[in-house]
Amino acid sequence: MPYDKNNIFAKILRGEIPCKKIFENDYVLSFHDINPQKKIHALVIPKGEYVDLDDFNKKASDKEITEFHKAVSHVANLLGVLDKGYRVLSNIGSDGGQEVPHLHFHIFAGEKIGKMVV
Ligand code: AMP
Repeated sequence: MPYDKNNIFAKILRGEIPCKKIFENDYVLSFHDINPQKKIHALVIPKGEYVDLDDFNKKASDKEITEFHKAVSHVANLLGVLDKGYRVLSNIGSDGGQEVPHLHFHIFAGEKIGKMVV
């Protein structure tokens, strides 16, 4: 699937719509999910144009991949959830339930997250 420059996260990255920012550097942006499914529900996205994890792993530089993964732990630290734990999840494609076609990792925390898959 080609990257859709009009997806909602692309608009957030361009500053066209606001977000509740948690962290930003040259490679990633993290913000709170607009419709939280748990007490803490954050998103981490790369700044590059990647549809999903497969697209990212195929096309991104080693630096982008490293920075993206490091950012997940950094955001969890900023959220204060390292001790109690959290869940990271990425939906890919239609069977995976992906709604926004820009790679994102969800971070769920702040309470027991429950069953791995419902
Ligand atoms: P997914 O189903 O994995 O593609 O998840 C997309 C996520 O993006 C959902 O949890 C939405 O609530 C979230 N979302 C959609 N629009 C926004 C927005 N403008 N700001 C923050 N989160 C959003």
